[in-house]
Amino acid sequence: MKSTADVVIVGGGCMGASVAYHLARRGVTDLVLVEREKLLGTGSTGRNAGGVRHQFSNEANIRLSIESIKLFERFADEVGQSIDFHQDGYLFLLSAESSVETFRANVALQRSLGVDVQWLGGSDAEKLAPGLSAEGVLAATFCQRDGIADPNGVTMGFAKTAQSLGATIERDVEVTGIVTTAGRVSAVETTRGTIGTRAVVNAAGPYARVIGKMAGADVPVDPIRRHIFIAAKGADQDTMRVPSSHIMVIDFETTFYFHREGAGLLFGMGERHETPTFDTTVQWDFLPQVIDVAVRRLPALADASISHAWAGLYEVTADGNPIIGATDGLDGFYQINGFSGHGFQHSPAAGRIVADLITGRDPGMDLSPFAHARFARGGVAGERYVV
Ligand SMILES: Cc1cc2nc3c(=O)[nH]c(=O)nc-3n(C[C@H](O)[C@H](O)[C@H](O)COP(=O)(O)OP(=O)(O)OC[C@H]3O[C@@H](n4cnc5c(N)ncnc54)[C@H](O)[C@@H]3O)c2cc1C
Repeated sequence: MKSTADVVIVGGGCMGASVAYHLARRGVTDLVLVEREKLLGTGSTGRNAGGVRHQFSNEANIRLSIESIKLFERFADEVGQSIDFHQDGYLFLLSAESSVETFRANVALQRSLGVDVQWLGGSDAEKLAPGLSAEGVLAATFCQRDGIADPNGVTMGFAKTAQSLGATIERDVEVTGIVTTAGRVSAVETTRGTIGTRAVVNAAGPYARVIGKMAGADVPVDPIRRHIFIAAKGADQDTMRVPSSHIMVIDFETTFYFHREGAGLLFGMGERHETPTFDTTVQWDFLPQVIDVAVRRLPALADASISHAWAGLYEVTADGNPIIGATDGLDGFYQINGFSGHGFQHSPAAGRIVADLITGRDPGMDLSPFAHARFARGGVAGERYVV
């Protein structure tokens, strides 16, 4: 274990790996990424739905998507790893007048930034996603360049390339403390010794608040459990009537979403009453609530069997925007967390930005919507499309 490093990254999910990759590409290879599990990407990154979209309500998030999706499109060439990226689009279904109004404004914003988003009726939506019932849908939006990618491929691509450039990745090592001296970080304590450093990156996902506390900083990120279910076709069915493409369909009012997964279907829905927890036990009694909503949109689910399920943690902030950048009141402590359920897709751009900040480059975009200091100031317009 190194005893000093220019940068220590806490957490080996997609965020930590992306920061390591972008730093190593800039020639910063005296860095250590510390992950407490035996494998990288087993936290939220390993439990997510793989969705990648341009369709956000906040300009800063749309900009993260534009940059990140460009990298996903050339990932195999640039990073050297295939990521199974299917750009079959994201379809949002709207059944409340208020959502239609909100989406109208946001489609205009997305288009003004160069994103090609279509405005559709319910029957167009049913054609795009065979098996879907658009009953009661007032309007829908669709962006063909949105899609589904492999979170493990992205994380391992970033991590392996960073390592090949000279970065150190320590697994099965836990960060237990962060030492600060005169208002800046000076060392990271781990279960295998102390690493002296002047730059620490908090990429601990749902544990970001815990890591912040070690440095005496309030990082307001809450862990909120979310379930994913996998459906296989029923015993008496030859095929399940679901889209043959990988289109992601989101019923915005209920947050029920689904996409094809192999021969079956992946689906999930937000639990409105979930309170912060690190418990990722599957709550099977939640499934009937999801099915009640789901069969209205995808009748085939009524006859499907659920082959398995898992739960993971969203890392949620009060306004739905991530925290990216420096920490108010503590020099050398960088945040890249709080992505509120849509972090995987933003890991390429977010990691690039943190690498720029650490190396003193201009990140090239207004980071105030992501500033740690915004919580003390209050009143920031956040992200409305948290699913
Ligand atoms: C059910 C579900 C569905 C989702 N669907 C999508 C989606 O479709 N699209 C999308 O973009 N995003 C989605 N997300 C969100 C996405 O998964 C996260 O935003 C993203 O993975 C966060 O990555 P991370 O690297 O910050 O966190 P993580 O992957 O959790 O990585 C943090 C790492 O820090 C490590 N760690 C914590 N504490 C310590 C310590 N003390 N010492 C050392 N290591 C430590 C953990 O072990 C972990 O590996 C979903 C999330 C869930 C739960």
